[in-house]
Amino acid sequence: MPLKLGLLGIGKIARDQHIPALNASADFELVACASRNASVDGVANFPDLASMLGGAPELDCVSICTPPQAHFDAALMALRAGKHVMLEKPPTATTRQIALLAQEAAKHGRTLFQSWHSRFAGGVDAAREWTRGRALTSGRIIWKEDVHHWHPGQQWIWEPGGFGVFDPGINALSVLTEVLSTEVCVETAVLEFPENQQAPIAANLQLRTGDGVTIAAELDFRQKGEQSWDIELFAADGRLKLTRGGSGLAIDDRVMAADQGLAGEYPRLYSRFAALCGAGASEVDWRPFQLVADAFLIGERRIVAPHQV
Ligand code: NAP
Repeated sequence: MPLKLGLLGIGKIARDQHIPALNASADFELVACASRNASVDGVANFPDLASMLGGAPELDCVSICTPPQAHFDAALMALRAGKHVMLEKPPTATTRQIALLAQEAAKHGRTLFQSWHSRFAGGVDAAREWTRGRALTSGRIIWKEDVHHWHPGQQWIWEPGGFGVFDPGINALSVLTEVLSTEVCVETAVLEFPENQQAPIAANLQLRTGDGVTIAAELDFRQKGEQSWDIELFAADGRLKLTRGGSGLAIDDRVMAADQGLAGEYPRLYSRFAALCGAGASEVDWRPFQLVADAFLIGERRIVAPHQV
């Protein structure tokens, strides 16, 4: 029997990825949606989570696709109602909120899948294999996209708790922490804030692994023309390049995985969620989130030109 799922926050990612993945999944049946200003054909629609939980008591699980500022309250409410929860990235607005949610899931014996969709990109597993046992010498992340194209009209991204350029940048950090065999820390950070916004439009980070390897990260929301979501890792005996957010992979310039964009990521995410629900397990890894929080803690702040959403 498929698990009955309710989707919260019907915006860009819900429509582009979650609904198609759910419609194609044998593990889940999308039976209800909750959104203040949107509805989905063929399912029960509610204006908010509380009314969805009350009006569709048959739900086994809730998948949360709102902006991060709204994740904590929603996840807490769903877990306390006895539902399994899948959370979009970034997990929550503050680092302790996700810790508390993990405790709450355990207390209620429910699954919390705090997802990192980029870890399910086509090249990531092979990249992890390549780095295992290999002595790296350096690394470089270039994550540059046009915010007007990818986040049209999204004011929340510029508000406190909205992450700014770290909304996409945290995806790079989720892949990095997945493929490295050692821990990684933020050594220095320079954050550029538009003078009229509350979140950074660009960031330069210097990261250092437990083995002392330096990885530079350039994140920028002002990129025109070619967009870049690349991670390069260098070793004495070779180099690896993940492109298109981890979908493409080249090792020593040989193409190992061709770019598929986000296409395969969400079906794999939901398969993982189903497996976790079946096993009565949770999956929570807040290391990418801590790196972002650390960049905010130690980052040098620069004020730059205003940005119009
Ligand atoms: P979005 O287009 O703005 O959609 C989010 C929806 O959540 C809104 O349409 C809104 O629907 C609802 N919502 C509930 N509380 C809200 C609040 N306080 N502020 C604004 N909207 C609120 O955003 P999105 O691009 O889908 O991103 C949502 C989450 O998915 C983010 O955490 C993001 O990082 C993640 N994500 C996005 C992408 C992408 O390509 N866009 C990719 C992967 C992951 P109602 O007004 O109808 O309630």
